Amino acid sequence: MNYYGDSVNKLIEQLSRLPGIGGKSAQRLAFHIINMPEEEAKAFAESIIQAKTEVKYCSVCCNLTDSDPCAICSDQKRQRDVIMVVENPRDMAAYEKTRGYKGLYHILHGAIAVTKGIGPEDIRIRELVNRLDESIKEVIIATNPTVEGDVTAVYISKLLKPLGVKVTRIANGVPVGSDLEYVDEVTLSRALEGRSEM
Ligand code: ZN
Repeated sequence: MNYYGDSVNKLIEQLSRLPGIGGKSAQRLAFHIINMPEEEAKAFAESIIQAKTEVKYCSVCCNLTDSDPCAICSDQKRQRDVIMVVENPRDMAAYEKTRGYKGLYHILHGAIAVTKGIGPEDIRIRELVNRLDESIKEVIIATNPTVEGDVTAVYISKLLKPLGVKVTRIANGVPVGSDLEYVDEVTLSRALEGRSEM
């Protein structure tokens, strides 16, 4: 039965494709959007289009950015001889919030997960290797403390060591199996301070 008409059904269908949104939530959100003032609804729709068209990947660190290179890569005040490798932009944001890290980042956009068919070539490891030169003194691997994160850390370490760069892994202070983005700032800072060479 078509209770709501095609326009509403289409909106519900689009919303239900978002991660974590079931049919009921999609209906609730759709009616919320329909009841928004028109200007607000338009601004919402435009922000989706703008994010999709303006945002690109930084050609240096692979972070999401409006300008290339991104703000962090272009910031000459940052410590430019150390790179922290994280799985996604949210992990980078978590470390930025600690304010304790002043170096550069590299965003992998995932981790090696053999069971899910994600290999080293599917994440941004090649881009990491390509940006290494003699100016880089240390690569800190801050992938999540999960099986995938550990596999990725070991893979990168084996790949980089022959290039003569120091490779470290953040300490185990971060609870096993957790996502870095949900770990508190003190724990993240301690994990960074306690990093050890791989
Ligand atoms: Zn960048």
